[in-house]
Amino acid sequence: METLEEVRARIRALVSGPGKTSRWVLSHLDHADGDWCLIWPFSWEEDHYPKYKNQTGGRQWPVHRLMCEYRHGEPPSASHHSAHSCNRGTEGCCNPMHVSWKTPSENQFDRSMGLPRRREKLTAEQVDQIKALEGRQRPIDIARQFGTTQRNIRLIFSGQTWRDPSSKHRHFTEDEVLAIRGAPSTVPTAALVPQYLGANYSQIQRIRTGKSYAWVNGRP
Ligand SMILES: [Zn+2]
Repeated sequence: METLEEVRARIRALVSGPGKTSRWVLSHLDHADGDWCLIWPFSWEEDHYPKYKNQTGGRQWPVHRLMCEYRHGEPPSASHHSAHSCNRGTEGCCNPMHVSWKTPSENQFDRSMGLPRRREKLTAEQVDQIKALEGRQRPIDIARQFGTTQRNIRLIFSGQTWRDPSSKHRHFTEDEVLAIRGAPSTVPTAALVPQYLGANYSQIQRIRTGKSYAWVNGRP
């Protein structure tokens, strides 16, 4: 059995070829953010797992399996497969933090327990940001950015979901975002909050630090 170091060297070598897909896989092998699904940004067959094909052989590897092997080493047995904690494998999740080796019965057990799908729901703040991006970016790009599906994005645009006005989350215009970011660092966030009716401290702080409205960059 290969050591973890050997497995990692082998996979790195496998995906080190030219091409966008190789670069993407290589640069996400050590992806360490488990909060969101990491969606394969290229096309794949519907209802299947995204597959990676390197330039040399023509053989294809399921991307999530490569990620699982890279993170956890070889599968403990031939019957183990890489299972998603988020259940979003066929929706394109390749997040190495969301996959682990499970036997089919373990995986079945997890599903029957109805383990929650990780971060299935977008926050009200994210929904506001998505609405603000309508017409600016393609739904597919927005979907990738927020780790959700194009279908969800379209539903949000059409108002079919998230119509709940109780979210009370304030939407910020681009100018407001720029003004908040333009405030000198000596001005405490708490001093900015009263200037924006309906805003709260954490919203302003997230805008200031670029954690929300990241797409507003001030360039024409
Ligand atoms: Zn996932």
